[in-house]
Amino acid sequence: RRPEPFTFVIFGAAGDLAHRKLFPALYNLMVDNWLAGDCRIIGIARRAYEDTEFRREVGQAIEEHSRRKPDPQVLDRLLSSTYYLTADFNDANAYEALKTMLRDAESHFPQNFLFYLATPPSAYPVIADHLGNVGLAKPIDERHWVRIIVEKPFGHDLESAVALNQDLHQVFDESQIYRIDHYLGKETVQNILVFRFANGIFEPLWTRQYIDQVQITVAESLGVAGRGSYYDQAGALRDMVQNHMLQLVSLIAMEPPVAFEADAVRDEKVKVLRSIRPFSTRDVAEYTVRAQYEKGSVDGELVPGYLDEPDIASDSRTESYVALRLLIDNWRWAGVPFYLRTGKRLAKRATEIAIQFKTAPHRFFEQTDTPELAPNLLTLKIQPDEGISLRFGAKVPGPEIRVRTVNMEFLYGTSFAGTPPEAYERLLLDAMIGDSTLFTRKDEVEAAWSLVSSILHGWQRARGPIPTYESGSWGPEEADSLIQRDGFRWRRP
Ligand code: NAP
Repeated sequence: RRPEPFTFVIFGAAGDLAHRKLFPALYNLMVDNWLAGDCRIIGIARRAYEDTEFRREVGQAIEEHSRRKPDPQVLDRLLSSTYYLTADFNDANAYEALKTMLRDAESHFPQNFLFYLATPPSAYPVIADHLGNVGLAKPIDERHWVRIIVEKPFGHDLESAVALNQDLHQVFDESQIYRIDHYLGKETVQNILVFRFANGIFEPLWTRQYIDQVQITVAESLGVAGRGSYYDQAGALRDMVQNHMLQLVSLIAMEPPVAFEADAVRDEKVKVLRSIRPFSTRDVAEYTVRAQYEKGSVDGELVPGYLDEPDIASDSRTESYVALRLLIDNWRWAGVPFYLRTGKRLAKRATEIAIQFKTAPHRFFEQTDTPELAPNLLTLKIQPDEGISLRFGAKVPGPEIRVRTVNMEFLYGTSFAGTPPEAYERLLLDAMIGDSTLFTRKDEVEAAWSLVSSILHGWQRARGPIPTYESGSWGPEEADSLIQRDGFRWRRP
């Protein structure tokens, strides 16, 4: 379905996100013929630009960051529909100017509006409030729509997320709000639901009866790379676990929805988040580990420790790594531990979900060439090397019965041709057509923050130094102890 003509207003259009992700995504949507010719784009930021200068800069950003080499004709079409407004978000007059521009009869701006907040989070409520004051937050009539996309971070803790929801709801209806979590735009993440619910053979095994444990890893080899001042205020728990990783947990653990529709899917996801056992102070001490990277070597390059990175406080206690164990107190998952870990400067970049099944109830075949036949493991590889792998025992050819663990692999790269669309392409298109399935609903965000806040409260009470790990390793020893206590080990992606 192609979107109806609309005007896309990007607040913060001179920033990094707009340049690296939003404009390239718009360009690729246009190449693939998803955007009707009469869609228009207005960029807003403080920097003074003429339209022509701004268009030049957008063109360069697309040249540099698009997944495809730009076709000059399509690029021209996009740029000639792009305009710029110099404004400070705090200035009420700026919104009057925007309104005059949008409503100007001769300019023919489509009256469906998609606002994108690619701004510092402190500006989200300010912009929403001003849009409400000038009457741009509601559609001009019942045939038109107005939607707003809100970037991460959505709040800093439960209280601030609730307050932000309240601020947005003063002006916008929940159905108009699209909270972005770019993980949900990834093909491999959407495939979790297809894998589970479009196949007959996996879902019957997807329960506590057959699954022993689940490990979710989001490992990065990069450090805080130019984002020190933001990151030091946030840390790995807020930056990765609250949003992306809990989204992965809910997709893996949710019940089948009654329909593949926005609210039906999100109803099931939020039930999972509500079923996760909150952390008591004791649980925080036993089942969470936070740590900071020390200097070390990543991909053969020497890198500094977290505390020596630019814009990081020298006495910072912010975690660049977190590992934790979650329990989901519901019928399907009671007693199955979900282990989550994420960190910067780890041995390699890898995001995966590994589902380990229980071993066979009775063993005939003890003569293995490995000390113990490894349990069946289903690994969903989210990035890079996107694919799915199933580990099982196979008979080694020969006269005796010897069993060895082998892998059956599906790779996106070999099964599907072409470069898959970027997450932002999919998500922008969904917001343009009004499908909010892959966006986070108010109650989901608050349920995720509620859980994360129980951990943050425990951490605030803890004294003493936080553990460290060498850059280029797989994390601190404390994380190994956390999982070994339950008789398991972390997987090496
Ligand atoms: P950025 O590079 O700092 O860009 C911020 C933009 O907002 C700039 O265009 C800036 O314009 C404008 N701006 C800030 N204050 C303003 C004001 N008072 N009035 C008018 N314009 C103002 O930030 P970013 O990296 O693009 O990130 C934007 C948002 O997306 C943040 O919330 C961030 O957390 C989120 N995000 C970013 C990424 C990413 O990859 N960059 C990824 C995920 C989420 P001037 O430069 O003209 O002042």
